[in-house]
Amino acid sequence: YQLSVPQVLEQAYLQSPEKEVIFDGYKRVTYEELYQSVQLMASALASKGIQKGDRVLVCLPNWHEFVTIYFGLAQIGAILVPCNTRYMKEELQFILENSGAKAIFLAEEYGHFEFLKPILNKDGNFQHIFTVRFKDPECTSYEELLELGKKSEPPQVEIDSIEDVFSILYTSGTTGHPKGAMLTHKNFVHTATVSAECMNCTSNDVFLIAVPVFHCFGMIPGILTAIVVGGKMVFMEEFKAEKALTLIEQEKISVHHGVPTMFILELNHPSFKQFDLSSLRTGIIAAAPCPEEIVRKIRTIMGCDIVVSYGMTESSTTLTITGFEDDDFLRSETVGKAAPGAEVKIVDNNRVELSPGVVGEIAAKSFGIMKGYFNSPEKTAEALDQDGWYYTGDLGTLDENGYLRIIGRKKEMIIRGGFNIYPREIEEILYKHESVLEVAIVGLPDTVLGEITCAAIRLKPGKTEDQYSMKTYLKDKVADFKIPDHFIFVEKLPVTASGKIKKIALEQELKETLK
Ligand code: ATP
Ligand code: MG
Repeated sequence: YQLSVPQVLEQAYLQSPEKEVIFDGYKRVTYEELYQSVQLMASALASKGIQKGDRVLVCLPNWHEFVTIYFGLAQIGAILVPCNTRYMKEELQFILENSGAKAIFLAEEYGHFEFLKPILNKDGNFQHIFTVRFKDPECTSYEELLELGKKSEPPQVEIDSIEDVFSILYTSGTTGHPKGAMLTHKNFVHTATVSAECMNCTSNDVFLIAVPVFHCFGMIPGILTAIVVGGKMVFMEEFKAEKALTLIEQEKISVHHGVPTMFILELNHPSFKQFDLSSLRTGIIAAAPCPEEIVRKIRTIMGCDIVVSYGMTESSTTLTITGFEDDDFLRSETVGKAAPGAEVKIVDNNRVELSPGVVGEIAAKSFGIMKGYFNSPEKTAEALDQDGWYYTGDLGTLDENGYLRIIGRKKEMIIRGGFNIYPREIEEILYKHESVLEVAIVGLPDTVLGEITCAAIRLKPGKTEDQYSMKTYLKDKVADFKIPDHFIFVEKLPVTASGKIKKIALEQELKETLK
C-alpha cells in the first residue's frame, strides 16, 4: 500500500477514463472529467498560494465538487480538513483556529459565509474563501478556480505516503472537544483497500454514499474504496428513505453503506415492496449498535449481505469487520474480527493484555492508525504507545475466536459502590420500553457510593411515565444495583453535530437539575 491518494485516482482513471465515477443527482462525472478537473484544481490551488502541508477546510455536503477538491488537495500535498456542514459558528471557528487553515471551501446554504467573511485575512492564516455553487464579488468560486487552473500546469509535488499527512479529521466530540486526527496517505489507502477486500469489491460495484462525505465513513470506505476498485459512486445530499430506494433501483446500487437508522427507515417505508433492489450485494453498517432483527431483515428482505464494522476517526475507520460467512447473531452481537493488517487486544488500566471474555479497553494496531493528534503531543502520547498501539477509550471483550464485542466507552463507565455499571447495557433495555424515544445514563458524584446513576429520558409524544414505573420495568431485567437511582424526563438531550449524545454536557445539566 505504498500508493498515495492521488496515485489511486490516476490508476483508476488510466484503466477506464470513459467510465462514470460520480452521480450526485445534479451531475454525472466520468473518470476522465474527474481526473482533468483535479489537475485544474491542483494548479489553481497552487497559484493561490496553497502549498504542501497547508490546511484547507472543506465544508460541503455530498456534492461531486467535494471529490475534485479532495484529490486536488491530495495532489499538491495539502491537507484536507473536512468539516460538518451542520456545525454552528463556535464549532467551525474552533476547527478553523485549531487547524490553522489557510482557506475554506463553502456552500451557501449552511449560513457559514456571513460570519467567516468578516474574519477573512484578519489574523492567523485564514486567507481564502472559495465559494461552491454560489458567488461573491470578493471571493473566488469553484468554477473560477477551474478556469484559473488552465493557465498553468499542476505543480510536481513529492508525496511520501507513509510520512505525509493527507487529512486532519476532527473526531465527533462525543467525549469532549473534537481532536484533530492526522491521517496519512498510507492510512487512507490502506483502510480503503482493506475495506474493498472485505466486501469483495470490483469495478462493477456502484456505491450508495448517503453517509456524509465530510466524515471518515464517507471519505474512506465510501469515496476512496470506490476509486480503489475503479467503481462508481452515487451521492445523496440528504438521506430520505424513498429517494434511497429509488436510487438503488435506478442506478443499480450494489454497495450500500449506512448507519442503522437508514436501513430501518428503508425497511419500514410503506412502498418498500414496489422497489427492485436485486442489484444490492453488500455494504458496511457501522457507527452504532445494530439490532439482530435489522441485520437479518437487511439480509433476507433487502437481499443485501451487509457487513458490520467498528472503527473510529483515529483508525481511519474499519478496524474490525464481520465476514460473509458469519451468521446474523455474530453480525449483530459482535463487530467481527480484526480486519487484514490490524491487530486488536483488550487491556486493563495498566495496559496489560487480558484473557478472552474479560472486559477491558480495546487497543489496536494497524496501518490505518493515525500519526497523532494535530498540535497536541500530550493527547497523542496518551493515545498511542511506543509500539504503535492505539488505545481507543472503548470497552469491549474478545472471544476465543477473535470476535470483538463493544461494551461502551471507558469514560462512561460508572463505579457505584464498587460495582461497575456500563450505561449502554441499561440504555439498551430502556430503549425496548414502549414509551422511550431516547435515553442516556450518566454517573453523578455521591458522598456515600462514590457515584450514583441517573437516566435522562425523552419520552415518545403523548406518553407519560415516572420514576416508579421505570424502576418497576427494570426490576426483573437487571441486578438491582444497575437500576438508575434517578430518572429525569427531558424535552431533548444534548447531541453532537453527528447526532451522538454528549454525556459530559448532560452530566452538567443533571447536576444542576438535581442540586
Ligand atoms: P470523540 O472521540 O471526540 O469523543 P467519537 O469517539 O464519537 O468522538 P468518532 O471517531 O466519530 O468520534 O466515533 C468513533 C466511536 O464510535 C468509537 O470509538 C465507538 O465508541 C463508536 N462506534 C463506532 N463503530 C461502532 C459500532 N459498530 N458499534 C458500536 N459503537 C461504535
Ligand atoms: Mg473517540
